[in-house]
Amino acid sequence: MNIIDLHCDALMKLQEANGALRFADSPDLHTNKARLHKGKVKVQCFAIFIEPDIKGDQKFQVALEQIDYFYKEVLGKNPDMVHIKEWADFDRLKLGQIGAMLTLEGVDAIGNDLAKLHILYQLGVRSVGLTWNQANLAADGAGEPRGAGLTLFGKEIVEFNNEHQILTDVSHLSDKGIWEVIELAKYPVASHSNARALCNHPRNLTDEQAKAMFAKGGLIHVVYHPPFIKESGEATIADLVRHIDHFCSLGGSRQIGLGSDFDGISLFVKDLEDASKTQNLINELLKHFKEEEVRGFAFENFLNHRPGIGS
Ligand SMILES: [Zn+2]
Repeated sequence: MNIIDLHCDALMKLQEANGALRFADSPDLHTNKARLHKGKVKVQCFAIFIEPDIKGDQKFQVALEQIDYFYKEVLGKNPDMVHIKEWADFDRLKLGQIGAMLTLEGVDAIGNDLAKLHILYQLGVRSVGLTWNQANLAADGAGEPRGAGLTLFGKEIVEFNNEHQILTDVSHLSDKGIWEVIELAKYPVASHSNARALCNHPRNLTDEQAKAMFAKGGLIHVVYHPPFIKESGEATIADLVRHIDHFCSLGGSRQIGLGSDFDGISLFVKDLEDASKTQNLINELLKHFKEEEVRGFAFENFLNHRPGIGS
């Protein structure tokens, strides 16, 4: 069954390795092309993520370098990798092709300059998360003790996203920030977050937040990172399925998807250690849900709720 994975960090790895990794088959990439094909990942989203220790004036440069790896290494060397720049591009993918979409994980790289966000949009960024775990000029992240919401600049970014049919990603935001994005964003999404009711972690969503996301027409894509699945011990695929089941119980069965976080994590769910194993998750889901529902989690829910479609 084809799947859409809303989050991976392969671009950070490619850029940090300075050309030493091949996207086609490098074993150091959980989401290399061979593994995506094997796991039937039909669309992979590639996050631009800047490590917090990169100095402020170099962050935009590093973002551009990651985009350069996206164009030259991911797309340029692999004709079967197809750039998704418009929402309708999802419908144009042919057999044997994998769609690739750019996303931004935290707006630190643009400083206080919306023009830089416009440049990233023109280069293909179609989903923007305001923060990683710390605070920046847009908002506080989930790890920021202050716990503030969006700044005026952060609200301008959400407005920009709304105007340009860009998703606004709440994963990594503070609780207050999540609530404000749900209220302000036309296209809210949680690209890689689980249920806090099952695993009490600030990176996960409360039931109230999840219900508000669903009411707004937003999507929640569950993440394969064990510390966000289970508070202690080894996490299994069945443990991850519990999060999907829980979001279903909150009314989200048609708004749940997948966001692996591969290449950004160093702990793994058993039998879900890289993109090639993705069908293990689908097979487990098929034991618990109707095929039509699993198709939704895997691919269709995202298609039905992407900007420009339906409500
Ligand atoms: Zn992340």
